[in-house]
Amino acid sequence: MSDYPKRIMDSVYDDMFLPEETIAVRKQVRDFADEVLRPIAHTINNTPESVDAFPWELLKKMGDAGLLAIPFEKQYGGAGLEYPTLATMVMLEEIAYVSSGVAAALLDVPLILFGHTLKHAHPSVKEKLFPALCKGELLGAFATSEPAASTDLSVRALQTTAVKVDGGYRINGRKRWITNSPVAHQMFVLCKQGDAMTMLLVDMSLEGASVGEPDKKMGNLCQLTADVYFDEVFVPDECLVGTEGKGLRSALTSLTLGRVGIGACGVGMAQAAFDYATDHMKKREIFGKTISQFQYWQFKFADYAAQLESARNLYIKAALIEDKKRPNVQTMCAMAKLIGSALPGDVVRDAIQVCGGYGFVKELAATGQQFPLEAIYRDCKIGEIYEGANEVQKMVIARSIFGKESIG
Ligand SMILES: Cc1cc2nc3c(=O)[nH]c(=O)nc-3n(C[C@H](O)[C@H](O)[C@H](O)COP(=O)(O)OP(=O)(O)OC[C@H]3O[C@@H](n4cnc5c(N)ncnc54)[C@H](O)[C@@H]3O)c2cc1C
Repeated sequence: MSDYPKRIMDSVYDDMFLPEETIAVRKQVRDFADEVLRPIAHTINNTPESVDAFPWELLKKMGDAGLLAIPFEKQYGGAGLEYPTLATMVMLEEIAYVSSGVAAALLDVPLILFGHTLKHAHPSVKEKLFPALCKGELLGAFATSEPAASTDLSVRALQTTAVKVDGGYRINGRKRWITNSPVAHQMFVLCKQGDAMTMLLVDMSLEGASVGEPDKKMGNLCQLTADVYFDEVFVPDECLVGTEGKGLRSALTSLTLGRVGIGACGVGMAQAAFDYATDHMKKREIFGKTISQFQYWQFKFADYAAQLESARNLYIKAALIEDKKRPNVQTMCAMAKLIGSALPGDVVRDAIQVCGGYGFVKELAATGQQFPLEAIYRDCKIGEIYEGANEVQKMVIARSIFGKESIG
């Protein structure tokens, strides 16, 4: 679609909670999304998983535009914002508005899961990797999940092992579903070490590290996932992240932030579906009036406008709580993910319904016109599953109500 509808958010939502620096980031990222990403988004969102199709050029452009520096402090070569988490989440919303796959593969995993964990790496590693990460010359991955361990990341379930040897660690095992693994340069890997867990950084060009073919998925097609194999991979001591035996804590800290990102992406997708459908409703006539004149649909979309308002406020609040280092960050992040990831599925289902055939179709053969709702419908489901399934988010919230003793 060349004439993409105007954003209803601007007339309904007030960004009054956002500091000036974050409002500037929203504008900067939105301009980038409209000018650079929009023209290629339909292709990216609809091209089946392939290493050859990975959007490297887009990653570099994001680096050149300064977007990849937004989450980081000056000491890491970052933008040094006062509220970096907030700005990062707003960036995710704006990019996911146009492409959920791009937001996941180029921002959420490399910047939040990988980038946040990198802050706890050895100083020499940080010095080397952060500048490349901020420029879009390095792509990171973050591996906790395995064939038999993902929601359950207990020592009992985890099979990938790290053994301490002279000068480093030797890793053996297999990870599954690892975003960016077919193309990543570096990967954080959660390993079992005795009866504890340790996080190690693995250079994916090392001998013994290999990656399978990309999985064929329902959506987020440019987010390449695959199985990753470690066969006697040796990593030096400086690849230890944080403290030996405390790897799970380090993983969960990054995942907690990632959850806000999933909520923000959900808001972006929901807003995109909302804008597209309401624009269509104002133009399409049925029985002598526009669909927007049917109260049935007015009420539906009034409900969604209210839900968008609260889902957006929730992720913004969770991000601010993180930036201000206030307590209860885990509960707020869980809420932001729970609400933000569920909303796009509801909105886009009705958006497709009200657009009829124009909602269901991807490309109209007669005119070559392209339509975005089908991709959003496919892309949004994973938000309810990964970075902690939504049932797990409910456990986190319930824990803050009933206590760890009741919930576990
Ligand atoms: C596209 C994609 C990208 C991914 N990227 C990464 C990545 O980069 N790195 C990585 O490490 N992993 C990644 N994952 C893995 C992802 O985090 C897991 O798929 C997710 O944690 C769920 O694990 P599972 O699929 O094994 O389901 P399971 O752990 O088997 O859970 C299945 C379902 O059980 C239910 N459930 C779980 N616990 C409870 C409970 N306590 N109460 C009630 N119901 C419950 C939930 O509905 C859940 O969806 C990715 C997965 C996908 C599909």
